[in-house]
Amino acid sequence: MSDVFDAVTRSEIMRRVRSSHTRPEIKVEAALREAGIAYSSHPKAVTGSPDLVVEDGKVAVFVHGCFWHGHTCRRGARVPKANREYWQAKISRNRERDCWNLERLRNEGWRTQIIWECELVPGVLALQNLLAH
Ligand SMILES: [Zn+2]
Repeated sequence: MSDVFDAVTRSEIMRRVRSSHTRPEIKVEAALREAGIAYSSHPKAVTGSPDLVVEDGKVAVFVHGCFWHGHTCRRGARVPKANREYWQAKISRNRERDCWNLERLRNEGWRTQIIWECELVPGVLALQNLLAH
């Protein structure tokens, strides 16, 4: 049976469908728990419902999948051959929404940290560094 999606896209979709908690988010949460940092996940009351919020320090954290948010890495540069325009439009809408959310959060006095899926460890370190100041 042929598949309209290539293997990469298929696995991204399955990962997305499985739960609202992506695997990278789960890893970041584990690292925060290990570091004793209290957080809440997907708080509806916060602008843009960030993936994680560290209230103590007022930091909003977005854990971005490279494909879905168009990261400038190899995985982010990959666009499926099938339905190319559809995916490009979808990713560019995601990016616009990301920008808009960051701007609104900053206007509301939040500090923000984006953690990319391909840079989880440096991302968590950057967050810890942000929280220390
Ligand atoms: Zn990436």
